[in-house]
Amino acid sequence: MSEAQPSFAAGGCTCRAVRFSLTSRPLIVHCCHCRWCQRESGASFALNAVIEADRVVLVQGSPELVMTPSNSGKGQKIARCPACRVALWSTYAGAGDALRFVRVGTLDDPDCLQPDIHIYTESKQPWVVIPAGARAVSQYYRRSEVWSAESLARRERLLGLIKESRSEVWSAESLARRERLLGLIKESRS
Ligand SMILES: [Zn+2]
Ligand SMILES: [Zn+2]
Repeated sequence: MSEAQPSFAAGGCTCRAVRFSLTSRPLIVHCCHCRWCQRESGASFALNAVIEADRVVLVQGSPELVMTPSNSGKGQKIARCPACRVALWSTYAGAGDALRFVRVGTLDDPDCLQPDIHIYTESKQPWVVIPAGARAVSQYYRRSEVWSAESLARRERLLGLIKESRSEVWSAESLARRERLLGLIKESRS
């Protein structure tokens, strides 16, 4: 365990070889109704808690990262227990390894997190009824319109950290190119 940060929730795989804890609430919880999540879960939707990687603390065991195709074509890494193969979280090319999509069903108390938003409802299975008043979009959403101010601030900090960690290795030219790119991403998605 790192620091003395209080844990928000504990979780793990079915055989208990891998145990982890979340040190705070996630940035947001997605209930994703896309066909990819349906296939990967074998169910009707996926419930993912999106959280900074350093807020997922490994308590026991070491998940195996399995490269898996993703909707974007860039792939995702699914962290699975090496023994029972239960999937614990994913990281996507877009957000890099800095953000983890933790499967809420692997928490000891999965009732503690409810969806903040339903996404890709265009492919929702017809029997699934989204609760009245719940936030739902046919595909994806603009972060600035949905995330809380606190989550947006946490994301800013995270981007800063990513920048710092690269500045030790990347050339000045590469860092400048990355800076321009981040600016474009911010403009297009804020
Ligand atoms: Zn296991
Ligand atoms: Zn999905």
